[in-house]
Amino acid sequence: MEKVKWGKTGLSVTRSAFGALPIQRLSKQDAVRLLNMAYDNGINFYDTARAYSDSEEKLGCAFHDKRDDLIIATKTQCKNPQEFWEHLNISLEKLQTDYIDIYQFHNIEQIPLENSPLYECMLKAKEEGKIRHIGVTCHKLFNARTAMNSGLYETIQYPLSALSSAEEIGFARECGDKEIGVIAMKALAGGMLKSAAFSMAYLRAIPQVIPIWGFQFEHELREVLELEKMPPPLDEAMLEAIAECRGELNGDFCRGCGYCMPCAVDIKINWIARMPQLLRRAPYKPFYTPEWKKELAKVENCTECGSCMERCPYELKITDLLQKSAEDYKKFGQEHGFDLI
Ligand code: SF4
Ligand code: SF4
Repeated sequence: MEKVKWGKTGLSVTRSAFGALPIQRLSKQDAVRLLNMAYDNGINFYDTARAYSDSEEKLGCAFHDKRDDLIIATKTQCKNPQEFWEHLNISLEKLQTDYIDIYQFHNIEQIPLENSPLYECMLKAKEEGKIRHIGVTCHKLFNARTAMNSGLYETIQYPLSALSSAEEIGFARECGDKEIGVIAMKALAGGMLKSAAFSMAYLRAIPQVIPIWGFQFEHELREVLELEKMPPPLDEAMLEAIAECRGELNGDFCRGCGYCMPCAVDIKINWIARMPQLLRRAPYKPFYTPEWKKELAKVENCTECGSCMERCPYELKITDLLQKSAEDYKKFGQEHGFDLI
């Protein structure tokens, strides 16, 4: 698999990487099998997080005997130095390693800057050889730019896909100019893109951007491995297909990240808010079970408390999206011969 020399890190990283959030949902045995399949097919970069329940542990099981052949990134949501060291030591233990290649602050509200207690912890951990490179993950462009301009981070993880705005792509290009490695999370835009081909073509054109594909199933991994054999070109036909997709979504779409949760009245916001797209981009019949109808009916209970919107990094008007989704669900159901909720 093609590799790039990745900015200031000097690492040689494969153009496609493994996002290890979804393996939380697999048994240990299945997760280890999937991870080894990726490794055997050449993927050398794996991104996980302390917050992804047993994901680090599964990576440790799969890779403890091939550690030096791999690049492992993990993350901490620490709020103070004590938590920083606790999280780091647990990650090292779970990953069965004595160093982490890229250690990232995980979407914390304020980017730690020079002389801050948390950034000092990163420097000390690097000095002690527990981590090799310092990174950060952000969901807000403002924060990502702060991290970039600080010059303190070797990698920045940010949601990037073929649906990203010109401003976001501009940010990724600037990172490339500054030799900062960019880790593209949500390259399938939370399921809004049907194929990895769109983002693979689009993001490959930007130096230093490495998408981490979230794999749960073998067929998802196979799709990326096949595409990697002959990467799709960003030609006119591809650009037209991407433009069509953007037109349908109109910018205001839910990425399914779940940061807005939990909902005060138990609405599955991260599913319901993107239901119109899911119905049209995935097989729709599984969404018309009695269980899903009940989930959609909960939208009526929304009290408009607003707590979800305070947490949504994309500043979406969630209450409106939910209402629109519920109406669309009924209409789509009628048109396809399902009972109303
Ligand atoms: S505004 Fe509605 S959807 Fe959001 S948390 Fe409150 S009740 Fe739930
Ligand atoms: S509404 Fe916002 S925070 Fe919630 S899942 Fe969608 S994009 Fe994520």
